[in-house]
Amino acid sequence: MEYDYGIIGGGPAGYTAGIMLAKQGKSVVLFEKDKLGGTCLNRGCIPTKSFIHFSELYAQAKYAQDSGIYFDNLTLNFSKIIEKKNLTVEKLRKSLELAVKNSGVKTVYAEACIKDKNTIVANSETFCVKEIIVATGAKPREIKGLEFDGNFILSSDDILGIDELPKSILIVGSGAIGIEWARIMNNFGVEVTVAEMAEHLIPTADIEVSKRIERIFKQKKISYYLNDSIKSIENKIVTLNSGAILFPEKILVAAGRIPVCPACEVSVIGDACGEIQLAHYAVQQAKEFALNIPYDKNLIPSVIYGEPEIAWVGVREQDMDENCKKAVLPVSALGKSWCDEATDGFIKLILKNNVIVGAHIVSKEASSLIHILLTAIQNKIQLNDIKKICFAHPTYAEGIFELVINN
Ligand SMILES: Cc1cc2nc3c(=O)[nH]c(=O)nc-3n(C[C@H](O)[C@H](O)[C@H](O)COP(=O)(O)OP(=O)(O)OC[C@H]3O[C@@H](n4cnc5c(N)ncnc54)[C@H](O)[C@@H]3O)c2cc1C
Repeated sequence: MEYDYGIIGGGPAGYTAGIMLAKQGKSVVLFEKDKLGGTCLNRGCIPTKSFIHFSELYAQAKYAQDSGIYFDNLTLNFSKIIEKKNLTVEKLRKSLELAVKNSGVKTVYAEACIKDKNTIVANSETFCVKEIIVATGAKPREIKGLEFDGNFILSSDDILGIDELPKSILIVGSGAIGIEWARIMNNFGVEVTVAEMAEHLIPTADIEVSKRIERIFKQKKISYYLNDSIKSIENKIVTLNSGAILFPEKILVAAGRIPVCPACEVSVIGDACGEIQLAHYAVQQAKEFALNIPYDKNLIPSVIYGEPEIAWVGVREQDMDENCKKAVLPVSALGKSWCDEATDGFIKLILKNNVIVGAHIVSKEASSLIHILLTAIQNKIQLNDIKKICFAHPTYAEGIFELVINN
């Protein structure tokens, strides 16, 4: 049999393209050498967000006594948390497997090799296809001198496999993965240090976002070194270029991910492209491929989870030209933030010619709020039209109204 499409890689890019193409009546064979769901479901987005949830639950319980809520003998069973995280991943994977099966996509669990632009070989079997899509993802980037050993020097894959919490951890890199793990470990009471080569934490964010997170990290006693990196490691003693000497029990290297992509003349989508390495960007590329729905690469939102959430899209303060202006509202101006005891943060808009061109949020619910602003940015909705919207009270979303009504 000849398939219309042969897709290599069963992560968000591959399975989304597969399901969408099958729904259009195309015959699709999908190859996955490991588990359906890819990095996102098995080693990325989902397991880390599950850890964030449980670590926050623990941290909140620890500090609840300030509010008159007492937990006697509060203890932490990390194995139970791992079990619950695994259950979440397995449950979601089963649903995904069913969705792929019901869509009519044929899944082959094997490593696939491209023989030529119409032939894929897997499990010693040959598959003839009219078109090949490569969605093989990316893998953690190793740094020279900091090679992963799965014990002391960990990748973002390795850290998901630890069965007990270390006393201390050094995190190299402060992108989304580094920041989220710093928050998880800090919530669990682990001593956390972050080493970042750039001038600020989260170097790709708006400068005010980076500075606020630095302030929040100080409050939470998460140490960090900027413009710094590891100079040497001897007997697990780490010396940074700045001269600082650290004694971490573990090191997590979160210094980006490199595409896994066979060199070939076929379509490539998702992390394998080496562009924006986010699950929703992978899905967006799959949508464009399968349904011909275009997207604006400059309007892909970024979200970093934990308390408070961080989200941004579009023009940043450091990108502003003379026609741009900024409007910032501290979330402490919102009644809801006081009810939630979550007053540290802000909603910031970059405005240009009466429309919003950038949005940067450090706040509870930032991961949802950003989509209201993204809708306004993408559709160039005039500020006057946003003013007509009735925002419910008390919410974080009313912060958008407060900003817009005054500009
Ligand atoms: C710790 C961590 C946290 C993350 N958190 C977020 C987040 O909160 N939000 C977000 O948007 N993104 C997040 N990401 C990124 C997200 O996981 C990726 O962007 C996304 O998974 C990319 O999807 P993909 O389909 O391109 O590749 P992957 O999900 O990597 O899937 C590729 C698949 O291809 C398979 N494969 C590779 N080669 C072959 C072969 N030759 N034959 C058969 N199969 C093959 C692999 O086994 C894998 O299953 C996170 C990543 C990490 C590591």
